[in-house]
Amino acid sequence: MSRSTTVTIDGPASSGKTVVGKLVSKHLNYRFLDTGSMYRAITREALKKEINLDDDIALSQLAIDTDIKLIPQDISGLVLVNGKKLLHELRNPDIDKSVSQVSSVSGVRTALVKRQRMVCEEGEIVVVGRDIGTVVLPDARTKIYLTASLEIRARRRHDESTSQGGRFDTKNIFEKLRKRDLIDSTRENSPLRPADDAVIIDTDNLSIEEVADIIVDLVGTS
Ligand code: C5P
Repeated sequence: MSRSTTVTIDGPASSGKTVVGKLVSKHLNYRFLDTGSMYRAITREALKKEINLDDDIALSQLAIDTDIKLIPQDISGLVLVNGKKLLHELRNPDIDKSVSQVSSVSGVRTALVKRQRMVCEEGEIVVVGRDIGTVVLPDARTKIYLTASLEIRARRRHDESTSQGGRFDTKNIFEKLRKRDLIDSTRENSPLRPADDAVIIDTDNLSIEEVADIIVDLVGTS
């Protein structure tokens, strides 16, 4: 696959990666892959099977055994897990709470990164996550890293949750995001960080459309 056909977007929780990534993929007519949904799917399986989250070997085996299929043409983010369609089930507070612990297990990452690369091999794609520009696709030509202050991200997460009918306390959301960022950025394997050649975009004062337009322009010039 040519390097120019891959756009990587990394960044912390609620930095807007997924919503921006979907819009960019629509503008460019590229496929879309949200790698966070894969880590969420494994976490859901682990919780369902009551696997001890400190048991790295069991979690790694679970990641190898679980059949996860992404439907990159479907930008809603639908995932098939052992044949079952999952979408909103992957975005619940129990999964939010445990996903960073599960994602820090090396064996889990090895299994999922392998599958992510296979999906990307199939052609033009926008891929969002935490380690896409640094580890999964280090040769991608257009690498983006989105940032936003914790306050803004907590507010966005709050608005998103309440629009889906939930009731959440902003302070609680703020603390949970802070904790997830800390685990994601300090883990030994593939910590969250911008690739050396990534373009960093601070999204605090930008709309989703503005961020997407910047990225589409960058793809055109890189
Ligand atoms: O992006 P999202 O919030 O859905 O990701 C959920 C979690 O999955 C992150 O907090 C992180 O722990 C993990 N993740 C990861 N590497 C990726 C994508 C997500 O470790 N490429």
